[in-house]
Amino acid sequence: MTSSDIAAAPQPRASVLAIEPYVPGKAAAATTAKIFKLSSNESALGPSPRAIDAAKSAADALAIYPDGSVHALREAIAARHGVDAAQITCGAGSDELIFLLTYAFLSPGDEGIYTKHGFSIYRIAILAAGGTPVVAHEVGLTADVDAILAKVTPKTKIVFLANPNNPTGTYLPAREITRLAESLPPHVLLILDAAYAEFVTRADYEPGLELARTRNNVVMTRTFSKIYGLAALRLGWCYAPPAITDAINRLRGPFNINTPAMRAGIAALADEPHIARSIAHNTQWLAWLRDQITALGIPVTPSVANFLLLHFNDADEARAADAFLSKRGLILRAVETYSLPQCLRLTVGTEEANRLVVAALAGFVQAKTAKDPQRG
Ligand SMILES: *Cc1c(COP(=O)(O)O)cnc(C)c1O
Repeated sequence: MTSSDIAAAPQPRASVLAIEPYVPGKAAAATTAKIFKLSSNESALGPSPRAIDAAKSAADALAIYPDGSVHALREAIAARHGVDAAQITCGAGSDELIFLLTYAFLSPGDEGIYTKHGFSIYRIAILAAGGTPVVAHEVGLTADVDAILAKVTPKTKIVFLANPNNPTGTYLPAREITRLAESLPPHVLLILDAAYAEFVTRADYEPGLELARTRNNVVMTRTFSKIYGLAALRLGWCYAPPAITDAINRLRGPFNINTPAMRAGIAALADEPHIARSIAHNTQWLAWLRDQITALGIPVTPSVANFLLLHFNDADEARAADAFLSKRGLILRAVETYSLPQCLRLTVGTEEANRLVVAALAGFVQAKTAKDPQRG
């Protein structure tokens, strides 16, 4: 091919080529050990057996288009959360909703704000829409309302905030989120991504439902990929003011939610004992992992979600730990793309996985100390 052939070929928009593709958590490792995937914050207990049955029941309906209005699922979500089903929009994962919201509200040249270690999909969505990503600094690996507000310009159209954030596990209390919503200019859309809301046990936490109900510039997104254990079905939802709901429904693919996902979602919402078990499991093992790993001399960021950020001395040591654990079938998430090259993110797993991780980390620390006694 000559260079003139290349120039004549279809060219993506420059902003598309500026996107660094999303790096998912690894799923495999070169080892004969049993694999524990602790790299994508999936549920340790998996889905409700009732949700699995419901998804299977949809096998009989595969020839028929799904219900494009997602009526029954939206009603089930609305009933569970005490909100109006007319203001709920479902997406193929909350990722799809993040893209729809961004395409609807951000024009080429507009600015979208997210925080230094914020979830990486926000940057991708801003660039995909032709916008300019603007990064607000964090304080102690936590979003900072004043830092976000300082980045607002007349071009700002969207502020993204994961609360709690992935990959740090930190959160902002309700009063800070309210202050942010109240301080933003009224034309700026605040997207509160509450993917991990169900795991949070703090009294001063609010996922954003109240703000989305009472303000016309706040949207809350949620997912069935985390506590409900349905990541493979791709199902998320958002609660938004009527005008915002109207805008994203114009963009939404008419059949973006498939029938197995709808049925499984409804069944998952109804299995309250399973949800309670999943929360209890996480609360117990998150604290256990935090204490055990800290006791090994590996600091962890205090997390309110279903994962922990582990801090090593430097990027080389984090890579060495990642390799050491992978060899033992324990797959964590490298987070250098989040400007955290010295860290690894660990999802809370089953009791078996959690105990193996702590034992392996102890082995790693011991091997390191034997090799390099000064640094300990
Ligand atoms: C996992 C995650 C999501 C959920 O994505 P889905 O597309 O619903 O699977 C959204 N936001 C954050 C911060 C996450 O970590």
